[in-house]
Amino acid sequence: MNSSSTTKTILFWMSIVFLGIMLWKLVSTNKPNADNVSYSHFLEMVGRNEIRDARIYLDANSVSVSASRRDSQQRVSTTLSYGDWQDLKERLIDSGATVEYTNQKKDDWVLLLLNGLPLLLLVVFCLFLMQRMRAGAWRGAQTSLPKTHTGIGYDLHRLEYGRPLIIGGIELPFDKGPVGHSDGDVLAHALCDALLGAAGLGDIGTHFPDTDPQWKGANSLLFLEHAKKLLADKNFAIEHVDAVVVTEKPKLGPHFPKMREALAKALGVSADKIHLKAKTNEGVDAVGRGEAIAAHVVATLSSR
Ligand code: MG
Repeated sequence: MNSSSTTKTILFWMSIVFLGIMLWKLVSTNKPNADNVSYSHFLEMVGRNEIRDARIYLDANSVSVSASRRDSQQRVSTTLSYGDWQDLKERLIDSGATVEYTNQKKDDWVLLLLNGLPLLLLVVFCLFLMQRMRAGAWRGAQTSLPKTHTGIGYDLHRLEYGRPLIIGGIELPFDKGPVGHSDGDVLAHALCDALLGAAGLGDIGTHFPDTDPQWKGANSLLFLEHAKKLLADKNFAIEHVDAVVVTEKPKLGPHFPKMREALAKALGVSADKIHLKAKTNEGVDAVGRGEAIAAHVVATLSSR
């Protein structure tokens, strides 16, 4: 049992004990049923030594008496003014009766205190419980909400005649292709960098250096498959990929569905998480002159 449960248990049993005491006090201070008689009649009984014992209840403005008779089980009660109770007490003692008295005002305070304590404990218990629930909800929110990570990737490759043009894992019919150590897939490279960057795992050059002969002419989808494993090891999930491929030619739009499928398969996600766009560079610079191809990618990851 943890400290929270122990505290709750203690508070619960303390409330039960005080409730029990309160009920006992309520019962014990109840005046027993008795036949009500006038004060003068009661004095006559006292004078005839008929009273065996009496309890005098002292209130702020009045005094009441409950007494039992010697010759029967009958109980009688009466009321008198506050100023007469000392005289009555002496008469009862003189008659041989046992006398007890109860200060009602004092007992009222005791009763009020005993009534209030369980309520106070209940309020403290509820406040304590609410505080614990708020703290738990806050901690739950902190632990259950996924964290979002964003990474950006960029790549550019020169284009030369006679090389295969591979973009997004798909070979496109074209008279030029990228120059690169691997297959030169500019989109896959930028995507790989965006994913690694979002996860804080370096960049594509860290994991696949272009000086390593094993990656010469490699299918760049292998890089993405490896990146997927690295992300999974760190409990990252790919939420969204948005990419722009910049090239003058060829038209990329018709090939996007196959590219999305290939990239999604390599990353182990559904294709609807991969979004591709194509732009030209309006004839400006090397890309605009058809001498190079570039890609920009933003990747969003989540982690718990
Ligand atoms: Mg590259």
